[in-house]
Amino acid sequence: MAGYWGKILHADLSGNSLADIPLDRDMCRDYIGGAGVAARLLLDRLDPERDPLDPQSPLFIMTGPLTGSRIIGAATRFTVAGVSPLTGIWGESSCGGSFGVQLKRNGWDGILITGRAPAPVYIELIEGRAAIRDAADLWGMDTVQVTDTLKARIKESEGKAASVLCAGPAGENLVKFACLMNGPHNAAGRCGFGAVLGSKNIKALAAWGGSKPAFADPDALNALRDELKEKIESNIAVSSMGAFGTAGGMDLGSMSGDVPIKNWTQGLWDEGIDKINGPTLADTILTRTAACFGCTVGCKRVVSVPDGPYAMEQGPGPEYEAAAEFGSMILVDNLAAISKINETCNRLGMDTISCGGTVAWLVEAMECGDITPEQTNGIKMAWGDADAVLQILDLMARRQGIGDILARGSRAAAAQLGVGAEYTVTVKGMEAPMHDPRAFWGMGLNYATGNRGACHVNTAGMYHEHGFCFFPKIGLDDEAPPHQTGGKAFLTAQTQDLGQLWNSMCLCHFPAIPWEEADYVNVLNHATGFGYDLDALMQAGRRTWYIKRGINNLLGVSREHDTLPPRLLAPLDDGATAGLEIDLRTMLDEWYALRGIDAQGRPGSEQLHELGLGDLAEKLHAQV
Ligand code: SF4
Repeated sequence: MAGYWGKILHADLSGNSLADIPLDRDMCRDYIGGAGVAARLLLDRLDPERDPLDPQSPLFIMTGPLTGSRIIGAATRFTVAGVSPLTGIWGESSCGGSFGVQLKRNGWDGILITGRAPAPVYIELIEGRAAIRDAADLWGMDTVQVTDTLKARIKESEGKAASVLCAGPAGENLVKFACLMNGPHNAAGRCGFGAVLGSKNIKALAAWGGSKPAFADPDALNALRDELKEKIESNIAVSSMGAFGTAGGMDLGSMSGDVPIKNWTQGLWDEGIDKINGPTLADTILTRTAACFGCTVGCKRVVSVPDGPYAMEQGPGPEYEAAAEFGSMILVDNLAAISKINETCNRLGMDTISCGGTVAWLVEAMECGDITPEQTNGIKMAWGDADAVLQILDLMARRQGIGDILARGSRAAAAQLGVGAEYTVTVKGMEAPMHDPRAFWGMGLNYATGNRGACHVNTAGMYHEHGFCFFPKIGLDDEAPPHQTGGKAFLTAQTQDLGQLWNSMCLCHFPAIPWEEADYVNVLNHATGFGYDLDALMQAGRRTWYIKRGINNLLGVSREHDTLPPRLLAPLDDGATAGLEIDLRTMLDEWYALRGIDAQGRPGSEQLHELGLGDLAEKLHAQV
């Protein structure tokens, strides 16, 4: 099957067994790959009563049909998916690096992991041979240590430069926003899948493969790759990411009100933004840039801080999300400190977004007297204090003292401590990423209705609202005024469906900014030979969106969960969005009508049948 091997590996840790599961051709065509195929496979195995950290909870690590190709941004990307321990609903997390291509070159499209090993293990995949190996000596290591150790071990035993995907101490300790790391820069960050790996007693996976997947029309695929490369190189937004990283546009973002400041309460912080943005990083601590396998954009930063309290050897520089979470959100204007915090999160294996949101909540809770230093092991949190953050991170990852409560995320921490619920900023339990929806109201609707909670990467809407890309063939040819209610429901529904394609193709969003609709159709047809047209592709995106919504309905999601936290519904006093209030109710009503969502928040039965989701319709509508 062109673009796919037609099988995934099932590792059952409880049974210590490894076996192939075939992938059906029609399913690959209908769900494409990555998060789409994972959602389809999850629905077939979903037990709504099962805890996400139960050994039998399935965890998927999936590649896409372009993994292993030369398509920029899709050559290696992969998705980790399952039920999120942070939110209890559908979870997915996309990751770059090099693990995806090495996994696929083993001859599998992905891995399904179930069960729990009796003692710590890692899974080794070398040239199509899978093995479950003892990881007793790796347990407790940070993500850099385990990566270096496993790479050296496999180099010595197999002579191969394996790629390692691993959990840190946070994953071992079941921190609900623990991530997986592939190298120092690349995180499958969101949704807490590091904890799922830890719950299965798996420290890491290591892969090296030499089998290149076959594509339907490799010459056409390569020619299209070169065309797309030219589009990417001539696109200012993408080029800027190569030059200044993803924090390169922080000044512009701040001017439009997109950058959250002081736990979402402040609209202006110009003096601080200037000190932590991408150009300042390039002028101060940047040593070189880095890229995922096969990517010519190279948005990753490598930094070093030679001395001082935040000294760090050459390591990962903060991406935009981390720069905002540990910079503007808590008023830290020191790039060296932010880099140290970011590197610490990566080493401990914690998602910088949920961790940062939880830290900002804690700072505010202490600043306003809801929490005292007596409750935080004597650590005094304050706006602008990076040292206190570094201390609290370690407690979180090791679940010591207050860290044990914070390790559940801000929503659960506020509930457990009985304070500060009004200044948590989560949707469906997921801390919001660093794009303030008061600046772009479609993002507000998208957060409210996101299938994994507050999420900016389940959609192409952000780039359209920001004016970076237009999709005339799906009705999005005009600029979308940011502070407008009308039209946002259509924009959101269309770009959510398109966003499903990105995450099913395992395509990095940044190089995709200059892609036109025909590029999606052509690239997938050259890879798979499925003969899609644009309608069929958009329907695949829509089908994937609905199956995730249906999974969430089965897990308890209803209309009441489609909302924004009170803080985001209140206007700011200053900055670009001062006084502006999102009319979420109107946008939601239009979106429900467009999506065909009933009063209980479920997709209608007829609509599901039309999308080939009759089994989901029966499960959902038999519930009444
Ligand atoms: S743009 Fe950045 S994140 Fe995306 S593939 Fe390239 S290096 Fe990786």
